[in-house]
Amino acid sequence: MADTQGIYILAEIGEAEKPTAVTLELIGLGRDLASRLGERVSTLVLGAGVREAAQELALYGPDEVLFLDDPALSRYDPELYVGALVPFLESRPPRVLLAGHTSLGQDLFPRLAFSLDCGLVTDCVALEVDGGDILLTRPIYGGNAIATQKVGTSKVMATVRARVGEAPQPSSAAAVTPLETAVPASSRLSLKEREVLQSRECPLEEAPVVVSGGRGMGGEDGFAQLTEIAGILSGAVGASRPPVDSGWAASTCQVGITGKVVAPDIYIAVAISGSTQHLSGMGESGKIVAINKDPDAYIFKVADYGVVGDWRQVLPSFSAALREIMQE
Ligand SMILES: Cc1cc2nc3c(=O)[nH]c(=O)nc-3n(C[C@H](O)[C@H](O)[C@H](O)COP(=O)(O)OP(=O)(O)OC[C@H]3O[C@@H](n4cnc5c(N)ncnc54)[C@H](O)[C@@H]3O)c2cc1C
Repeated sequence: MADTQGIYILAEIGEAEKPTAVTLELIGLGRDLASRLGERVSTLVLGAGVREAAQELALYGPDEVLFLDDPALSRYDPELYVGALVPFLESRPPRVLLAGHTSLGQDLFPRLAFSLDCGLVTDCVALEVDGGDILLTRPIYGGNAIATQKVGTSKVMATVRARVGEAPQPSSAAAVTPLETAVPASSRLSLKEREVLQSRECPLEEAPVVVSGGRGMGGEDGFAQLTEIAGILSGAVGASRPPVDSGWAASTCQVGITGKVVAPDIYIAVAISGSTQHLSGMGESGKIVAINKDPDAYIFKVADYGVVGDWRQVLPSFSAALREIMQE
């Protein structure tokens, strides 16, 4: 087998056929690793009609962009992705292969790691180079401790949380080349039904501000107020698990150990007590603002700013003040 070489980033294409924010952040992280390891950065893009997105990615500092444009990849199918990527990655074994800790990254990378016989660390919040080793840091025990890990294989795979890296500024374009691999002719998976649960302008994991509600919101009406505040701040609405279980918020909104992991600049937790399971999904946020009627709620221990009060009284004046500030 060839020696491992290069930092590879698996790109994701989001709304309007644009690379997602986490993809650009990964290129920034990849560049940083590459300069310390003396490696090159390659970005891999798979999908249908991804040529333009590949050209856009080429502006963000990789040394090359390799794309696989095939109608069979119009939606994510792990069997087709693994079948297409494994032969290529066996012929050009990467030293490091990164993806976002997104739904796709979480589903694809364990399968890929198994097929490539490669060590994988998921949900990373920091990547460092120590001599020739790559150290990967991730929260463990529901976010109550941080582990720094090193894999024992020559190839290293990792999924990385959104907003860990910084997207580079666009500059001169790198080479864009078709990926020399074939998509498998068939998959054992077939799509029975597709339901778009909620379309929102700002995906939760990429939002600079997340406004989340908990059980204390008491119903859907409370969430309408959170949606209004998120709109003022160009942010997204999140939720703890009980509102999702009760059907007041879409399951795509759930933040926490069994939901999404977010790290916005500002996280506003309304009527959320601050369970370990919730904190593990938002504890890395820049500033945490809590609104809760219980002064002893645990969320105040992790909050930078807190308001003790009933959200029904606090939110109207909060949104009016925000509106005023945003208009200035
Ligand atoms: C395996 C497992 C996985 C889990 N995964 C997740 C997960 O991913 N995400 C998650 O969030 N949870 C998860 N949970 C559930 C978790 O343990 C907690 O039960 C949950 O986070 C509590 O949600 P909460 O804070 O909204 O509700 P509660 O703990 O009931 O808190 C409600 C808060 O609202 C306040 N409140 C009530 N009324 C008002 C009002 N009018 N104004 C202001 N404040 C008010 C109360 O003072 C209280 O602090 C998981 C649990 C298990 C066992």
